[in-house]
Amino acid sequence: MGETARTTKLLLDLSDRAQGGANHAKRQALSETVQILDMARRFYLAFFLAHPDKLTERVQVISKTTGEVREALISADHLLTWAEAVTVETRAHPDPLPDWNFSRAFPDFPNRYRRSVIKDCIGKARGYLSQMKTWQASGKKKGRPGTPSAANLPTLYAGTFSLELDGLDLRQSFVRLKVYHERAWTWLNYPTRYNRYFEARRTEPGWEQKSPKLVLSKQGAAIHFLQTKEIKAKKIVESKQDPDLVTVAVDLNVKFPAVITVRQHGRIIQTRFVSDQGLDQHRFKHLKRVSRKQWQSGKAVKGERANQRLWQHIKRHNLDSAHKTARTIVEVCEQYPGCVLVFERLRKITPKGGSTSRRTNRKQANQLRGKINQLAKEKAYTQGIVSCETNPHGTSQYCSRCGKMGMRFMSRHGQRIPSRGGKLFFCSNCQYECHADWNASVNIHRSFYHEMHWQPRPKKSG
Ligand SMILES: [Zn+2]
Repeated sequence: MGETARTTKLLLDLSDRAQGGANHAKRQALSETVQILDMARRFYLAFFLAHPDKLTERVQVISKTTGEVREALISADHLLTWAEAVTVETRAHPDPLPDWNFSRAFPDFPNRYRRSVIKDCIGKARGYLSQMKTWQASGKKKGRPGTPSAANLPTLYAGTFSLELDGLDLRQSFVRLKVYHERAWTWLNYPTRYNRYFEARRTEPGWEQKSPKLVLSKQGAAIHFLQTKEIKAKKIVESKQDPDLVTVAVDLNVKFPAVITVRQHGRIIQTRFVSDQGLDQHRFKHLKRVSRKQWQSGKAVKGERANQRLWQHIKRHNLDSAHKTARTIVEVCEQYPGCVLVFERLRKITPKGGSTSRRTNRKQANQLRGKINQLAKEKAYTQGIVSCETNPHGTSQYCSRCGKMGMRFMSRHGQRIPSRGGKLFFCSNCQYECHADWNASVNIHRSFYHEMHWQPRPKKSG
């Protein structure tokens, strides 16, 4: 049993009004809201840090099921009630603490926002206090934990936001947000870039909605919707007992970002090559340009960014490619429910030799492998598929058929030219010839089932 989470972004349309977006005042209102919430958070953070005893108070708790009374740390809900009682003016509590009068400092603050702020601060203050405690206990002089910052993304609880979906025409939909504008709290409507992909994710069964967050950046504004899902999956150790177990092995590479093989009963039953669609070449072209410009303009200026657009483009391409490849891997896994996804443990590779652009390109390609690995695992887990990593020892050097050492080669005029980066693999023991990446992918299965020169590890004496 486990839980997985994901976020879906809903972009707010803050473009010019003529094109149907919101005006500048609305954008201004959002940043003002973020500012005032940060200020409120600063207030409560200072408040809680001034009352550390209350945060760590032990209270009597009565168990609802057994009726047992035991001592436990005060819960966040009780702290919230206490904090509101001593800082907020109400009919029941007419005079809060004179130094900590929230109602006077922040008049008309919506109580939903106030509660989200208080909850946030309880977590931050408690984390800080416990870090402080361990640091003091360690007796070290360095590494004193810094005071927590008050800035955070505003959480939108019910009552501060509503999503208005205008019938079938999804483009007409907008979000109503409670914002702080011109020293007053008001409701404002923001047009959204609502689309059918968002709708499909929002309404997908099995996912539970959590409170969304408002994320404001330089480029635009978005609401991030958090969803969680319960996952039921067997442990790998249990799955290994099953004689009909299907394993899906993935070899991550450059030209073929993923070579997927599926094995059951000791036989390969499916193979899939995922091509990079020329991404490597394309990236190299751009990186050559970057390094040439760098060379022409001399030493880089510290604190200044160069070629920003180009780097953005490269990053976007990489991420998109990683998502698509990971998706393909999961699509293969979905055909075999209860299968196990196997990767080889990625090595740390430092590119050497070649031009600067070539080394940077290798570096990017290695990072892409890591990204594909991570995304595929996450995407597979939401489908209840567990993944694991195997020892990468010799996966590309040994023959997947007989297990003897073979060689990688290039084919030139019908002749085998040995080369480390060769596309093909040849085994001189059994005369077997195949695609090198495919051979590695099959070897990952062998490594998973401990069929490849696997010996029990000698017990360390002493
Ligand atoms: Zn062989």
